[in-house]
Amino acid sequence: MLEVNNLQAWYGRTQALFDVSFQLEAGRCLALIGTNGAGKTTTIRAILGLVLTAGKISIAGRDVSSLPTHSRVRETGISVVHEGRGMFQRMSVRENILVGLASSLHRRLDDALDQFPALSGRLTEKVSQLSGGQQQMVALARAVAQRPRLLLLDEPSLGLAPAIVDEIYAHLARLRDTGLTILLVEQSVPRASAFADELCLIRTGHSVTRIATENKVEVDQLVSLAFGN
Ligand code: ATP
Repeated sequence: MLEVNNLQAWYGRTQALFDVSFQLEAGRCLALIGTNGAGKTTTIRAILGLVLTAGKISIAGRDVSSLPTHSRVRETGISVVHEGRGMFQRMSVRENILVGLASSLHRRLDDALDQFPALSGRLTEKVSQLSGGQQQMVALARAVAQRPRLLLLDEPSLGLAPAIVDEIYAHLARLRDTGLTILLVEQSVPRASAFADELCLIRTGHSVTRIATENKVEVDQLVSLAFGN
């Protein structure tokens, strides 16, 4: 579904990614892990075409490396939940879920509410009146309404209390179990390894290694390699 080969990325003259390569098969979840500043968010931005890149990015067998962001999103079915959620605070829950969609709005809203029924009674409320966890649900509901084939999730647990993170991950597990392909960025290795099929360690802009999460010994070795403990 997603193939990234020798990806490099720049912010102006500053190179942030040097050599990131991985594959993500359809229906699987791969988590990018690594320390602050390693290049995880930049990898998500590069897949979306939001930073200057070199290397190859293929989605569903198609080379999208030279496509603009809107074509990548529209033509290949990528949805993204950005770090910090990207909510429109003055807009309602309903407007945030449906933003950018032009047709079949009722059905799209139903899709989102099937996954997040707790939002049904809050559709007309302004997002600014919601808690961080509820806003994260709106962000996920918006991604679901886009009927993605590939979901990019950048630190969905950031800034949330552990009990709320459990709730968010329970929702995410239901989405994953529908067969959605997910690329996750997650600081917490225990969370990432409980949720994803595979982990890919990013270090100073390089993808260092990729392992299956079912192998607990390798996960422990990866944690030592990544965080030195
Ligand atoms: P974190 O877990 O802290 O979000 P990360 O692994 O997602 O870290 P990135 O945000 O991808 O890391 O950053 C990778 C590198 O790119 C870092 O050296 C960072 O300082 C640099 N960088 C990120 N955003 C910018 C920017 N807008 N302009 C210049 N450099 C940037």
